[in-house]
Amino acid sequence: MSVQDDIHPIFDRILQRTDKEQLLKQRSKVIWLTGLSGSGKSTIAQHAEKIFHEKGLMTMLLDGDNIRSGINNNLTFSSEDRIENIRRIAEVSKLFLNCGIITLNSFVSPTNDIRKMAKEIIGEDDFLEIYVNAPLEVCEARDVKGLYAKARKGLIPDFTGITAPFEAPENPSLEIRTDQMDVDTSVQMLMDYILPIVEQQKA
Ligand code: ADP
Repeated sequence: MSVQDDIHPIFDRILQRTDKEQLLKQRSKVIWLTGLSGSGKSTIAQHAEKIFHEKGLMTMLLDGDNIRSGINNNLTFSSEDRIENIRRIAEVSKLFLNCGIITLNSFVSPTNDIRKMAKEIIGEDDFLEIYVNAPLEVCEARDVKGLYAKARKGLIPDFTGITAPFEAPENPSLEIRTDQMDVDTSVQMLMDYILPIVEQQKA
């Protein structure tokens, strides 16, 4: 007997995702922004969330630092903990997804395997992989949080792009080159792609 034997999910007895989507008059998706630290994930997600809100669409923004200071505050940046970090985030995203909510995720999520796991948990049809792409030199020059300088001094172990790998997505739903356009254009590019997918006719 394992603990699993005593768990009896009641998914079939609760209101369905479509009921929630109907109520909110939108289709839910997980918008998964991946890219190096400083590539622009959080900036784009924050601007996008405001636009969704103005359009009467309900969103949830999940951001690396927020999640790591709460539900995942017991995790490090080791390979093992990075997997657990993303596993929990994907499971949390699925809860929001099933509640009809458009979920914006801003996480470095550096490897193909880690994003594949997230995609498998969330479901292929609902996982929109957005590659927020700027070269390492650009991200390092921006150094929004001063992390690259610290990583170069050896003060941060396993820092993506410096001492830990970042694997570019092989087949993203969308790629946004933030070194080649300004913030507004980047956000517009995301909205142009997402809005037709999530908007339902308002009654
Ligand atoms: P991340 O969340 O990927 O770590 P941030 O959004 O925190 O990155 O930081 C990105 C920085 O790059 C911000 O200071 C932002 O103003 C700047 N930036 C410059 N161009 C763009 C762009 N096209 N899109 C997003 N951010 C940009």
